[in-house]
Amino acid sequence: MRDVIAATPPALMLVLAAVGWALVYLARCKWRPFAPCWCCKGSAKHFSSDGKSFRLCWWCGGSGRRKRTGRRVWDRFAKVRNASR
Ligand SMILES: [Zn+2]
Repeated sequence: MRDVIAATPPALMLVLAAVGWALVYLARCKWRPFAPCWCCKGSAKHFSSDGKSFRLCWWCGGSGRRKRTGRRVWDRFAKVRNASR
């Protein structure tokens, strides 16, 4: 296995790594389209400095989650496909 890695050109290794990452990302977009909101860390709330009151996160609209960018693109293509039928 080590010989195979040593014999593989670095450029090809990069391509393989990129393809592997893309496959993992696509699988996530398909089966887990939502990720925790990066702004509120999935809590959907932002607390005041005294910790007694909070407001809803404006970024995710109080849902605590956001759609992955890849899933947005996916949905857009799905919509175009459905419209052309
Ligand atoms: Zn949020």
